[in-house]
Amino acid sequence: MEKLIITLAHTGNVPTKALNPATPVTADEMVADIIKCRELGVAVAHMHVRDENEMPTSRRDLYEILLKKLEDKNVDIIKQLSTGARGGENTVEWRGQMLDLPGAEMASLSTGSSNFPTSINANSPQLIEELAAKMYANGLKPEIEAFDVGMINNAARLIKKGVLKAPLHFNFVMNVPGAIEGTPKNLMYMVDSLPEGSTWNISGIGQSQVPLLTMAILLGGHVRTGLEDVIKYDRTTLATNEMLIKRVVRIAKELGREIATTDEARVILGLK
Ligand code: MG
Repeated sequence: MEKLIITLAHTGNVPTKALNPATPVTADEMVADIIKCRELGVAVAHMHVRDENEMPTSRRDLYEILLKKLEDKNVDIIKQLSTGARGGENTVEWRGQMLDLPGAEMASLSTGSSNFPTSINANSPQLIEELAAKMYANGLKPEIEAFDVGMINNAARLIKKGVLKAPLHFNFVMNVPGAIEGTPKNLMYMVDSLPEGSTWNISGIGQSQVPLLTMAILLGGHVRTGLEDVIKYDRTTLATNEMLIKRVVRIAKELGREIATTDEARVILGLK
């Protein structure tokens, strides 16, 4: 089996210091968590940024600061920029404003729309195509964020249309209230729906975290974890990014799956 790529989703859009004081919201806090988690086995950092009021944003200047700090500290990690729908205005110009920054190798791209608990994950056909074009123009590999199986089917359609380039890398975002439930049966259906040659990763939201990540490790998929996906470690304990990474490393070791280095992850993902 391929080595396991571990992605850290350190901040996301939802966690706050009030919900979990360990949430990194400044660039310095994010860099500190990325460095600690990289040492534990993380190969990819899925990055969101926050403004001065801790609010999620797509602001180019804030992504630039974060990328620059990582470069200054020589942190060798695959930097993946979020183009998610909850960082402010829902336009290509706003959501894709950071895609031409130097240092990044990947960006997230949702290939359909769904619901979050209190808002819409709105990704119009036009927005998807324009964000994809901007990613390829800047040498970024998209990570397809699939919140439901229809988004996998749409990605396959977009390969045929020439909008997306195979082989694709997917992240199954499962168990978001409002989208596909994180069950073994649903996971198998998602895996079976992948275009040939795809690689995949899983984000197990909330209580689906440990079972889904464990299944992904066993099935030859890859895993993502971090406070973006779960705020609590278990029913009563607040998590830290380090705790979540340590747990997934421990499960992988118990199951005999080796962890990929950053360079090994680049080969698996077909990055230059
Ligand atoms: Mg995200």
